[in-house]
Amino acid sequence: MPPTPALLGLDRAELAEALSSADRPALRARQLARWLYAGETDFEKMSDLPADVREALGERYVASGLVETRRVESEDGVVKVLAHGGDEESFECVLLPYADRVSCCLSTQVGCPMGCAFCATGLGGFDRNLSAGEILGQYFLLQSISPRRISHVVYMGMGEPLLNYPEVVKSIRLFKQEVGLSPRHITVSTVGIVPRIRELAQENLPIHLAISLHSTKDEIRNSLMPVNQKWPISEVLSAAKEYVNATGRKVTFEYLLIEGVTDTIDQAEDLATMVRGFPSLVNLIPFNYVSTGQGFKRPAPSRITQFRRTLESLGVNVTQRRERGHRIAAACGQLAGVHGGRFARRRSPSDLSVLS
Ligand code: SAH
Ligand code: SF4
Repeated sequence: MPPTPALLGLDRAELAEALSSADRPALRARQLARWLYAGETDFEKMSDLPADVREALGERYVASGLVETRRVESEDGVVKVLAHGGDEESFECVLLPYADRVSCCLSTQVGCPMGCAFCATGLGGFDRNLSAGEILGQYFLLQSISPRRISHVVYMGMGEPLLNYPEVVKSIRLFKQEVGLSPRHITVSTVGIVPRIRELAQENLPIHLAISLHSTKDEIRNSLMPVNQKWPISEVLSAAKEYVNATGRKVTFEYLLIEGVTDTIDQAEDLATMVRGFPSLVNLIPFNYVSTGQGFKRPAPSRITQFRRTLESLGVNVTQRRERGHRIAAACGQLAGVHGGRFARRRSPSDLSVLS
Protein backbone atom coordinates (compact mmCIF):
# COMPACT_ATOMS: atom_id res chain seq x y z
CA MET A 1 0.00 0.00 0.00
CA PRO A 2 1.45 3.44 -0.88
CA PRO A 3 2.08 5.72 2.11
CA THR A 4 -0.68 8.21 3.05
CA PRO A 5 0.15 11.57 1.45
CA ALA A 6 1.67 14.19 3.76
CA LEU A 7 0.71 17.85 3.98
CA LEU A 8 4.06 19.11 5.22
CA GLY A 9 6.00 20.44 2.25
CA LEU A 10 2.93 21.88 0.52
CA ASP A 11 2.78 25.63 -0.08
CA ARG A 12 -0.36 27.74 0.46
CA ALA A 13 -1.75 27.14 -3.02
CA GLU A 14 -1.24 23.38 -2.71
CA LEU A 15 -2.83 23.36 0.75
CA ALA A 16 -5.84 25.27 -0.62
CA GLU A 17 -6.06 22.63 -3.34
CA ALA A 18 -6.03 19.88 -0.70
CA LEU A 19 -8.81 21.79 1.07
CA SER A 20 -10.80 22.57 -2.05
CA SER A 21 -13.89 20.76 -0.86
CA ALA A 22 -13.94 22.81 2.37
CA ASP A 23 -15.70 26.10 2.80
CA ARG A 24 -13.27 29.05 2.21
CA PRO A 25 -10.19 27.02 1.22
CA ALA A 26 -7.75 29.97 1.19
CA LEU A 27 -8.57 30.86 4.81
CA ARG A 28 -8.41 27.20 5.85
CA ALA A 29 -5.06 26.84 4.06
CA ARG A 30 -3.72 29.79 6.04
CA GLN A 31 -4.92 28.28 9.32
CA LEU A 32 -3.60 24.83 8.41
CA ALA A 33 -0.20 26.22 7.37
CA ARG A 34 0.15 27.95 10.72
CA TRP A 35 -0.23 24.64 12.56
CA LEU A 36 1.77 22.49 10.16
CA TYR A 37 4.73 24.84 10.09
CA ALA A 38 4.73 25.12 13.85
CA GLY A 39 5.29 21.35 13.90
CA GLU A 40 1.78 20.22 14.92
CA THR A 41 1.08 16.71 13.67
CA ASP A 42 -2.28 16.05 15.32
CA PHE A 43 -5.22 17.41 13.27
CA GLU A 44 -7.43 17.30 16.38
CA LYS A 45 -5.30 19.98 18.01
CA MET A 46 -5.74 22.41 15.10
CA SER A 47 -8.45 24.14 17.04
CA ASP A 48 -9.40 26.92 14.65
CA LEU A 49 -10.20 24.47 11.84
CA PRO A 50 -13.83 23.27 11.84
CA ALA A 51 -14.26 19.70 13.11
CA ASP A 52 -15.50 18.39 9.74
CA VAL A 53 -12.41 19.83 7.99
CA ARG A 54 -10.10 18.24 10.55
CA GLU A 55 -11.85 14.93 10.12
CA ALA A 56 -11.71 15.08 6.33
CA LEU A 57 -8.00 15.90 6.46
CA GLY A 58 -7.35 13.03 8.85
CA GLU A 59 -9.04 10.57 6.52
CA ARG A 60 -6.89 11.48 3.54
CA TYR A 61 -3.62 12.85 4.84
CA VAL A 62 -0.97 12.76 7.52
CA ALA A 63 0.73 15.98 8.65
CA SER A 64 4.27 14.64 8.26
CA GLY A 65 5.15 11.36 6.59
CA LEU A 66 8.35 10.80 8.57
CA VAL A 67 8.69 7.83 10.86
CA GLU A 68 11.48 7.92 13.43
CA THR A 69 13.24 4.58 13.67
CA ARG A 70 16.25 5.26 15.83
CA ARG A 71 17.65 7.93 18.07
CA VAL A 72 21.16 8.18 19.46
CA GLU A 73 22.34 10.89 21.83
CA SER A 74 25.87 11.83 22.70
CA GLU A 75 26.92 13.41 25.95
CA ASP A 76 27.59 16.80 24.33
CA GLY A 77 23.87 17.09 23.49
CA VAL A 78 24.11 16.07 19.85
CA VAL A 79 21.20 13.87 18.82
CA LYS A 80 21.11 11.83 15.65
CA VAL A 81 17.78 10.60 14.40
CA LEU A 82 17.23 7.96 11.77
CA ALA A 83 13.91 8.21 9.92
CA HIS A 84 12.12 7.00 6.83
CA GLY A 85 9.40 8.48 4.68
CA GLY A 86 7.15 5.42 4.54
CA ASP A 87 9.26 3.32 2.18
CA GLU A 88 11.71 1.96 4.76
CA GLU A 89 14.67 3.73 3.10
CA SER A 90 16.38 5.41 6.02
CA PHE A 91 18.06 8.77 6.18
CA GLU A 92 19.50 10.75 9.03
CA CYS A 93 19.32 14.18 10.59
CA VAL A 94 21.27 15.65 13.46
CA LEU A 95 20.46 18.16 16.20
CA LEU A 96 23.45 20.35 17.04
CA PRO A 97 23.01 22.48 20.17
CA TYR A 98 25.62 25.20 20.77
CA ALA A 99 25.84 27.73 23.57
CA ASP A 100 24.62 30.57 21.38
CA ARG A 101 22.18 28.74 19.07
CA VAL A 102 20.70 25.43 18.02
CA SER A 103 21.41 24.16 14.55
CA CYS A 104 20.41 21.06 12.65
CA CYS A 105 21.89 19.12 9.78
CA LEU A 106 19.41 17.76 7.24
CA SER A 107 19.61 15.15 4.48
CA THR A 108 18.40 15.91 0.96
CA GLN A 109 18.70 12.46 -0.63
CA VAL A 110 18.71 8.86 0.49
CA GLY A 111 22.32 8.08 -0.34
CA CYS A 112 24.21 10.13 -2.92
CA PRO A 113 25.17 9.43 -6.53
CA MET A 114 28.36 11.55 -6.40
CA GLY A 115 30.63 8.81 -5.09
CA CYS A 116 33.25 10.94 -3.33
CA ALA A 117 36.04 8.59 -2.29
CA PHE A 118 36.16 9.72 1.35
CA CYS A 119 32.43 9.82 2.09
CA ALA A 120 30.41 7.03 3.68
CA THR A 121 27.20 8.29 2.08
CA GLY A 122 28.77 8.36 -1.36
CA LEU A 123 30.22 4.90 -0.96
CA GLY A 124 26.79 3.49 -0.17
CA GLY A 125 25.24 4.44 -3.52
CA PHE A 126 22.03 6.32 -4.21
CA ASP A 127 18.41 5.51 -3.69
CA ARG A 128 16.17 8.56 -4.17
CA ASN A 129 15.60 12.27 -3.68
CA LEU A 130 13.77 13.47 -0.59
CA SER A 131 10.69 15.66 -0.98
CA ALA A 132 10.48 19.18 0.48
CA GLY A 133 8.11 17.72 3.09
CA GLU A 134 10.65 15.07 4.09
CA ILE A 135 13.32 17.77 4.40
CA LEU A 136 11.09 19.95 6.61
CA GLY A 137 9.92 16.87 8.48
CA GLN A 138 13.48 16.29 9.70
CA TYR A 139 13.54 19.82 11.14
CA PHE A 140 10.28 19.24 13.03
CA LEU A 141 11.35 15.82 14.28
CA LEU A 142 14.46 17.42 15.75
CA GLN A 143 12.54 20.46 17.01
CA SER A 144 10.22 18.14 18.92
CA ILE A 145 13.18 16.85 20.95
CA SER A 146 15.05 20.15 21.28
CA PRO A 147 14.41 22.23 24.39
CA ARG A 148 15.44 25.36 22.49
CA ARG A 149 14.23 26.66 19.14
CA ILE A 150 16.29 25.50 16.17
CA SER A 151 17.36 28.71 14.45
CA HIS A 152 19.91 27.42 11.96
CA VAL A 153 19.69 24.77 9.25
CA VAL A 154 22.56 23.22 7.32
CA TYR A 155 21.93 21.05 4.29
CA MET A 156 24.96 18.86 4.92
CA GLY A 157 23.49 15.49 5.70
CA MET A 158 23.13 12.66 3.23
CA GLY A 159 23.03 13.60 -0.42
CA GLU A 160 23.94 16.40 -2.77
CA PRO A 161 21.38 19.21 -2.31
CA LEU A 162 21.84 20.73 -5.75
CA LEU A 163 20.99 17.43 -7.45
CA ASN A 164 17.59 17.69 -5.79
CA TYR A 165 17.25 21.35 -6.71
CA PRO A 166 13.46 21.93 -6.95
CA GLU A 167 12.65 20.23 -3.63
CA VAL A 168 15.59 21.83 -1.84
CA VAL A 169 14.67 25.33 -3.05
CA LYS A 170 11.03 24.72 -2.20
CA SER A 171 12.01 23.63 1.31
CA ILE A 172 14.14 26.77 1.77
CA ARG A 173 11.24 28.99 0.68
CA LEU A 174 8.95 27.20 3.15
CA PHE A 175 11.51 27.61 5.95
CA LYS A 176 11.60 31.31 5.14
CA GLN A 177 7.92 32.00 4.52
CA GLU A 178 6.17 29.56 6.84
CA VAL A 179 8.64 28.65 9.59
CA GLY A 180 10.11 32.15 9.81
CA LEU A 181 13.77 31.17 9.52
CA SER A 182 16.05 33.74 7.98
CA PRO A 183 17.71 32.52 4.76
CA ARG A 184 20.88 33.92 6.32
CA HIS A 185 20.67 31.14 8.87
CA ILE A 186 20.41 28.47 6.18
CA THR A 187 23.52 26.90 4.66
CA VAL A 188 23.56 24.68 1.60
CA SER A 189 26.70 22.64 1.07
CA THR A 190 27.48 21.47 -2.45
CA VAL A 191 30.12 19.36 -4.09
CA GLY A 192 30.12 21.95 -6.93
CA ILE A 193 27.23 21.46 -9.35
CA VAL A 194 28.13 24.55 -11.36
CA PRO A 195 24.91 25.27 -13.34
CA ARG A 196 22.81 24.88 -10.20
CA ILE A 197 25.09 27.26 -8.23
CA ARG A 198 24.44 29.83 -10.96
CA GLU A 199 20.71 29.18 -10.82
CA LEU A 200 20.69 29.45 -7.02
CA ALA A 201 22.42 32.83 -7.31
CA GLN A 202 19.33 34.10 -9.17
CA GLU A 203 16.71 32.81 -6.69
CA ASN A 204 16.70 35.94 -4.57
CA LEU A 205 17.32 33.79 -1.51
CA PRO A 206 20.44 35.03 0.24
CA ILE A 207 21.31 31.71 1.83
CA HIS A 208 24.84 30.83 2.80
CA LEU A 209 26.59 28.68 0.21
CA ALA A 210 29.33 26.25 1.23
CA ILE A 211 31.40 24.59 -1.47
CA SER A 212 33.29 21.38 -0.79
CA LEU A 213 36.60 22.15 -2.46
CA HIS A 214 38.94 19.75 -0.66
CA SER A 215 41.91 20.13 -3.01
CA THR A 216 43.42 22.85 -5.19
CA LYS A 217 44.71 20.44 -7.82
CA ASP A 218 42.43 19.03 -10.49
CA GLU A 219 44.27 15.65 -10.59
CA ILE A 220 43.75 15.16 -6.86
CA ARG A 221 40.19 16.50 -6.88
CA ASN A 222 39.38 14.23 -9.85
CA SER A 223 40.49 11.21 -7.87
CA LEU A 224 38.61 12.22 -4.70
CA MET A 225 35.48 13.70 -6.24
CA PRO A 226 34.39 12.35 -9.63
CA VAL A 227 32.24 15.49 -10.15
CA ASN A 228 35.47 17.39 -10.81
CA GLN A 229 35.79 15.61 -14.16
CA LYS A 230 32.66 17.43 -15.23
CA TRP A 231 33.23 20.80 -13.51
CA PRO A 232 36.87 21.42 -12.64
CA ILE A 233 38.09 23.78 -9.95
CA SER A 234 38.29 26.88 -12.18
CA GLU A 235 34.60 26.54 -13.10
CA VAL A 236 33.56 26.00 -9.50
CA LEU A 237 35.47 29.15 -8.48
CA SER A 238 33.90 31.24 -11.19
CA ALA A 239 30.39 30.06 -10.18
CA ALA A 240 31.26 30.90 -6.55
CA LYS A 241 32.23 34.43 -7.61
CA GLU A 242 28.94 34.81 -9.44
CA TYR A 243 27.13 33.71 -6.31
CA VAL A 244 28.94 36.31 -4.23
CA ASN A 245 28.23 39.04 -6.77
CA ALA A 246 24.55 38.17 -7.05
CA THR A 247 23.79 37.70 -3.35
CA GLY A 248 26.36 39.88 -1.59
CA ARG A 249 27.10 36.93 0.67
CA LYS A 250 30.41 35.34 1.54
CA VAL A 251 31.02 31.83 0.24
CA THR A 252 32.53 29.20 2.51
CA PHE A 253 35.00 26.75 1.03
CA GLU A 254 35.07 23.53 2.92
CA TYR A 255 38.48 21.95 2.82
CA LEU A 256 38.93 18.35 3.90
CA LEU A 257 42.35 17.54 5.34
CA ILE A 258 43.51 14.05 4.41
CA GLU A 259 47.07 13.19 5.36
CA GLY A 260 49.49 13.36 2.45
CA VAL A 261 46.68 13.96 -0.05
CA THR A 262 45.11 17.37 0.55
CA ASP A 263 47.13 18.74 3.49
CA THR A 264 50.29 19.72 1.63
CA ILE A 265 51.61 23.24 2.14
CA ASP A 266 51.68 23.98 -1.57
CA GLN A 267 47.90 23.40 -1.59
CA ALA A 268 47.49 25.81 1.34
CA GLU A 269 49.37 28.40 -0.71
CA ASP A 270 47.31 27.70 -3.84
CA LEU A 271 44.15 27.92 -1.77
CA ALA A 272 45.11 31.35 -0.46
CA THR A 273 45.63 32.55 -4.04
CA MET A 274 42.33 31.06 -5.17
CA VAL A 275 40.16 32.66 -2.52
CA ARG A 276 41.96 36.01 -2.49
CA GLY A 277 39.94 38.81 -3.97
CA PHE A 278 36.44 37.74 -3.06
CA PRO A 279 34.61 37.51 0.25
CA SER A 280 35.07 34.00 1.50
CA LEU A 281 35.89 31.82 4.42
CA VAL A 282 37.82 28.56 4.48
CA ASN A 283 36.48 25.90 6.84
CA LEU A 284 39.02 23.17 7.53
CA ILE A 285 37.56 19.71 8.11
CA PRO A 286 39.96 17.08 9.41
CA PHE A 287 39.06 13.74 7.80
CA ASN A 288 36.78 11.63 9.94
CA TYR A 289 37.63 8.02 9.62
CA VAL A 290 35.57 6.07 7.13
CA SER A 291 36.73 2.74 5.84
CA THR A 292 37.24 3.60 2.19
CA GLY A 293 39.77 0.94 1.27
CA GLN A 294 42.17 3.74 0.29
CA GLY A 295 43.95 4.11 3.60
CA PHE A 296 42.93 7.75 4.10
CA LYS A 297 44.02 9.21 7.42
CA ARG A 298 43.38 12.34 9.42
CA PRO A 299 46.57 14.45 9.59
CA ALA A 300 48.34 14.86 12.94
CA PRO A 301 47.23 17.97 14.90
CA SER A 302 50.58 19.68 14.24
CA ARG A 303 50.09 19.31 10.52
CA ILE A 304 46.56 20.69 10.69
CA THR A 305 47.94 23.69 12.61
CA GLN A 306 50.66 24.19 10.03
CA PHE A 307 48.11 24.17 7.19
CA ARG A 308 45.94 26.61 9.07
CA ARG A 309 48.80 28.96 9.95
CA THR A 310 49.95 29.03 6.33
CA LEU A 311 46.50 30.17 5.26
CA GLU A 312 46.28 32.74 8.04
CA SER A 313 49.71 34.15 7.22
CA LEU A 314 48.48 34.67 3.66
CA GLY A 315 45.46 36.64 4.88
CA VAL A 316 42.76 33.96 4.52
CA ASN A 317 39.77 33.84 6.92
CA VAL A 318 39.99 30.33 8.38
CA THR A 319 37.84 28.32 10.77
CA GLN A 320 37.99 24.71 11.76
CA ARG A 321 34.85 22.60 11.89
CA ARG A 322 33.56 22.26 15.41
CA GLU A 323 33.42 18.56 15.87
CA ARG A 324 30.48 17.22 17.73
CA GLY A 325 28.87 13.92 18.45
CA HIS A 326 31.89 11.89 17.45
CA ARG A 327 30.93 8.87 19.49
CA ILE A 328 27.63 8.54 17.71
CA ALA A 329 29.14 9.08 14.26
CA ALA A 330 26.91 12.08 13.86
CA ALA A 331 29.23 14.40 12.00
CA CYS A 332 27.45 15.71 8.97
CA GLY A 333 28.34 14.26 5.63
CA GLN A 334 29.21 10.82 6.84
CA LEU A 335 25.96 9.73 8.26
CA ALA A 336 25.44 6.56 6.35
CA GLY A 337 28.32 4.61 7.84
CA VAL A 338 26.34 3.17 10.69
CA HIS A 339 23.73 1.65 8.46
CA GLY A 340 25.80 1.16 5.33
CA GLY A 341 24.32 -1.30 2.91
CA ARG A 342 20.75 -0.43 3.70
CA PHE A 343 20.11 1.51 0.50
CA ALA A 344 18.38 -0.14 -2.37
CA ARG A 345 21.44 0.70 -4.48
CA ARG A 346 19.42 1.31 -7.55
CA ARG A 347 22.42 3.21 -8.80
CA SER A 348 26.02 2.53 -8.07
CA PRO A 349 28.41 5.01 -6.43
CA SER A 350 29.69 7.78 -8.69
CA ASP A 351 26.99 7.67 -11.32
CA LEU A 352 27.83 10.80 -13.28
CA SER A 353 25.02 10.13 -15.74
CA VAL A 354 22.79 11.94 -13.25
CA LEU A 355 24.61 15.14 -14.24
CA SER A 356 23.73 15.08 -17.90
N1 SAH B 1 26.93 16.70 -0.77
C1 SAH B 1 27.24 17.90 -0.11
C2 SAH B 1 26.71 17.99 1.30
C3 SAH B 1 26.81 16.76 2.16
S1 SAH B 1 28.42 16.29 2.60
C4 SAH B 1 28.74 18.17 -0.17
O1 SAH B 1 29.48 17.27 -0.52
O2 SAH B 1 29.14 19.31 0.11
C5 SAH B 1 28.84 17.52 3.85
C6 SAH B 1 30.34 17.71 4.07
O3 SAH B 1 30.92 16.57 4.74
C7 SAH B 1 31.11 17.86 2.76
O4 SAH B 1 32.02 18.95 2.83
C8 SAH B 1 31.84 16.55 2.67
O5 SAH B 1 32.96 16.63 1.84
C9 SAH B 1 32.16 16.26 4.12
N2 SAH B 1 32.58 14.89 4.37
C10 SAH B 1 32.22 13.77 3.72
N3 SAH B 1 32.88 12.69 4.21
C11 SAH B 1 33.68 13.14 5.20
C12 SAH B 1 34.62 12.51 6.08
N4 SAH B 1 34.86 11.21 6.03
N5 SAH B 1 35.27 13.29 6.97
C13 SAH B 1 35.02 14.63 7.03
N6 SAH B 1 34.17 15.27 6.24
C14 SAH B 1 33.49 14.53 5.31
FE1 SF4 C 1 27.67 13.06 -1.93
FE2 SF4 C 1 28.64 15.13 -0.52
FE3 SF4 C 1 29.26 12.59 0.13
FE4 SF4 C 1 30.26 13.65 -2.09
S1 SF4 C 1 30.66 14.33 0.03
S2 SF4 C 1 29.35 11.60 -1.92
S3 SF4 C 1 28.57 14.91 -2.77
S4 SF4 C 1 27.27 13.52 0.23
